[in-house]
Amino acid sequence: MNTEIWAKFKARVRDQVDGRFYSTYLENLSCRSMTGSEWIVCLPDRATLNIVESSLSDKLIDIIHEVLKEEGIHSDVSLVFSLEGENFEEQKEHEQWCLPLMGMTNKVTDVSTPEEAKAAFKVSPKYAVFDTAAAVKIRENSHLNPNYTFDSFIKGGSNEMAYCAAKAVAANPGGAYNPLFIYGGVGLGKTHLMHAIGNEILQTSNLRVRYMTSEEFTNGFMEALQSGKMPEFRTKVRRDCDVLLLDDIQFIEKKEGTQEEFFNVFNEMTQNSKQIVLTSDRSPKDIKGLTDRMQSRFMQGLMADIQLPEFETRLEIVRKKSRAERFFIPDDIAQYIASNVNSNVRELEGCINRIKMAANSHEITMALAQRVIEPFYQTRTVLVDANMIIECVCRYFGITVDDMMGKSRAKPIAHPRQIAMYLARSHTSLSFPDLERIFDRDHTTVLYAVRKIKDGLSKKDAMLEGDIRHLEDELFRK
Ligand code: ADP
Ligand code: MG
Repeated sequence: MNTEIWAKFKARVRDQVDGRFYSTYLENLSCRSMTGSEWIVCLPDRATLNIVESSLSDKLIDIIHEVLKEEGIHSDVSLVFSLEGENFEEQKEHEQWCLPLMGMTNKVTDVSTPEEAKAAFKVSPKYAVFDTAAAVKIRENSHLNPNYTFDSFIKGGSNEMAYCAAKAVAANPGGAYNPLFIYGGVGLGKTHLMHAIGNEILQTSNLRVRYMTSEEFTNGFMEALQSGKMPEFRTKVRRDCDVLLLDDIQFIEKKEGTQEEFFNVFNEMTQNSKQIVLTSDRSPKDIKGLTDRMQSRFMQGLMADIQLPEFETRLEIVRKKSRAERFFIPDDIAQYIASNVNSNVRELEGCINRIKMAANSHEITMALAQRVIEPFYQTRTVLVDANMIIECVCRYFGITVDDMMGKSRAKPIAHPRQIAMYLARSHTSLSFPDLERIFDRDHTTVLYAVRKIKDGLSKKDAMLEGDIRHLEDELFRK
């Protein structure tokens, strides 16, 4: 193994992958072997391996090629994932057994030997999917929406962490991440991801999945209490269910009876390695009416937040959703929609549908899009570009464009420069390499700048928030 190349690769991965994601899943990535045609990399456990393999393979391969190219090596390397400390040949054999059982091509189950896999197949059909009456019944009882899948979920920086966490849980229900707690504002895809977990588990096992809103849980509990049918209610929730998906848990805030019942459900299920997934519009510590013990239980598993999608993800959503609806939105109009509708995904969907209806199988024009969108949004008729952003930021901070493009790293110059990079990344479709070229900076500098401003905003740095708000108002003023 070439340690220098590996170190460079690792550093590049750290730069390009979301910080939290990196520290949760990639910190321990190690190298088993490295040849001109194949790199074998190791991860410490199967859940991590599954997530990294399913969501990051392409990115890692790109980085390998990038690093090799810089070293003057031009070869087409493939990437193989392996488990630390496991004999590679054995693992291959194990995969040959498990993959057909799971009906997938890129997943690894938590069965660790071929013998176990064969036994699992015979004794418990946990790893095999049969289209039997029982399977149909499980699906009916699950109350899942079959359209909310991982495939129909569009990934982006704002939801990457939650997506990967959801994937990990779906790959290993009842395993290391219990409960999974997904939180974030309305219309950002929490319910979608929750159903995606359920749908994937139904496809890869015969575990009994049950989706329920917290309101349904509360109502069921109250009714059972009043009609003296608690035993039936408890059986339904605790015993007839292996994976419980409880949506909008903030609903049980201040409802002590319901919390008490849920606390018992929670304990019994997690003790029996049954998976629980919860969503909420806030993190557990911000659900004020929650008892302390409930709060700490929620936080003992894996917590993942979803944030507002950034411009690029919004654009991707407009493109993919319109394609799925089988109508074509020209790219300038897609950009117009993505830059104006920046609240949440549900609203974006609403907009796409309204435009589709208004167009009524005619061609979609910018005028039509504006007419449909404007009553609902403070539209920005201007599409900004990097130059406009640079000029606007310079004016605002009282520095010159030469200062901004120059080499000075003094804070009064470097800070506006970082803001300009952040704004360009948020409000234009420019990629990181584009920004590197425009600002004449290297990759790490641009990444660092964008991340720094994002972090500041997520930590609610009031001064920074004010600056950004002013600049955006200025940029998008009609
Ligand atoms: P939440 O539960 O967070 O309020 P939902 O899961 O109900 O949000 O999402 C609202 C709508 O937006 C749904 O139709 C969902 O399919 C869609 N949606 C949200 N995020 C995404 C995404 N990343 N990719 C595709 N569709 C999404
Ligand atoms: Mg929801």
